[in-house]
Amino acid sequence: MSQNAANRLYLMQVGSMPEYQIPIVCYLVQTGDGKNILIDTGLPEIIPEDASEFENGQDVIEQLARIGLKPDDIDTVISTHYDGDHAGRHAAFTKAQYVVQRVHHTDAQTNPRFADIRSQWDQPMERIRLVDGDTELLPGLELIETSGHVPGHQSVLVRLPKTGAILLTVDAVPFAAGFTRDEQDDGSNPDAEAIRASTIKLLDLVEREQIGLVIFGHDMEQWAGLKKLPEYYE
Ligand SMILES: [Zn+2]
Repeated sequence: MSQNAANRLYLMQVGSMPEYQIPIVCYLVQTGDGKNILIDTGLPEIIPEDASEFENGQDVIEQLARIGLKPDDIDTVISTHYDGDHAGRHAAFTKAQYVVQRVHHTDAQTNPRFADIRSQWDQPMERIRLVDGDTELLPGLELIETSGHVPGHQSVLVRLPKTGAILLTVDAVPFAAGFTRDEQDDGSNPDAEAIRASTIKLLDLVEREQIGLVIFGHDMEQWAGLKKLPEYYE
């Protein structure tokens, strides 16, 4: 295994939607040569009035501190998408390069859905790496383009030395119950077709790569049984 490959994955809960028992989460990948790659940053410090269903918990900065990391220790922030519960603390990581799908970053420029937290994700372009589709970021860490939830959403595949491959679906498949080839479209969601295509793309990936652990974006029942920081997968 090369030194710069992924060798640890930490999961952390940074907030919730108490009414629906939904966890808001971030992930940290560490490489053999000591790089820290954060995946998403959780809710903003001050939650916008129109998002009062969300509640902050121990935030990403406090969670990282538990394992001795400061915001400036983060080398890369993988941004799955710019929804307020995923990109709310991006601006805190002043030494990091942000990695986002080009389609998503471009859409967000004019999409009011991402306006609330624009100050977080709208960073100088020299600090943003735009990627196009599926991309291997480093050995054992792949970005999987999964549009549907939003244009240019990305999921993340992490390959670890002991555990093997772990797929973080994030919001492409927020709940385990949705990870199925069955038609679930009730006609109410204009993005249903794209969501279904991304779900099937991930199901195919899991089959092809024989992925043993699939972690869904907001599934409290599954989350309760997973290892959380300071524990980790290796
Ligand atoms: Zn989400």
